[in-house]
Amino acid sequence: MAELTLSGITKSFGATTVIHAVDLQVADGEFVVFVGPSGCGKSTLLRIIAGLEEVTTGSIAIDGVDVTGRPASERGLAMVFQSYALYPHMSVYKNMAFALENMGLKAPEIDARVRRAATMLRLSDYLDRKPKALSGGQRQRVAIGRAIVRDPKIFLFDEPLSNLDAELRVATRKELAGLHAELGGTMIYVTHDQVEAMTLADRIVVLQGGRIEQIGTPLELYNRPDNLFVAGFIGSPR
Ligand code: ADP
Ligand code: MG
Repeated sequence: MAELTLSGITKSFGATTVIHAVDLQVADGEFVVFVGPSGCGKSTLLRIIAGLEEVTTGSIAIDGVDVTGRPASERGLAMVFQSYALYPHMSVYKNMAFALENMGLKAPEIDARVRRAATMLRLSDYLDRKPKALSGGQRQRVAIGRAIVRDPKIFLFDEPLSNLDAELRVATRKELAGLHAELGGTMIYVTHDQVEAMTLADRIVVLQGGRIEQIGTPLELYNRPDNLFVAGFIGSPR
């Protein structure tokens, strides 16, 4: 588990600034959800935290250590993407074990981690299968499993459920909430889905045009939105 601090984060692509002076503090073990319309900068901010994108100005600290400019591999994070690119020629087991082998872990430790994650994600019966022999929901759980086995300090999720149909989305969402309760990790979760945000978040960060509009618990945002944008985005019935 880890705390995360963003200070004055700005990001420009050429002459276009897409993230404007973002300050944010995430506590140890907190589940924070970034919401906002398409193009508001959610993925860019997540990629900046992950170390996949450099900041233009500002700094990032994890557990009080400045990691700005440090590569992704040194930040103790794991990221789950929307397009959960599994290795098609590898079994479920190998998909989860692969990164750990590259990290130089010993086989018994790898085996223990993979089997523990598989139990949590109800994948124990599928460890020998290839991804193409799995359902969409099972594949997404393998992608989450690949993050879990790395035992990261912080989990980053970029719209991990958006490729699933509505029913599976609800089921996987509940699973994620259960995982957070079980693992207790710090989680940053990006979505454009208000229901996901309201049900998963300890706190929600509402973004618009690369700026933070408001930060608060789901109840705070629902009951006391700072402006019409937040009210419309959080409160709109769906
Ligand atoms: P979201 O995830 O909220 O939909 P993004 O973070 O993907 O938004 O994008 C925020 C803005 O930054 C958009 O206007 C997008 O076009 C722009 N953007 C993102 N990545 C790049 C890039 N590599 N080069 C130029 N513009 C980018
Ligand atoms: Mg995005």
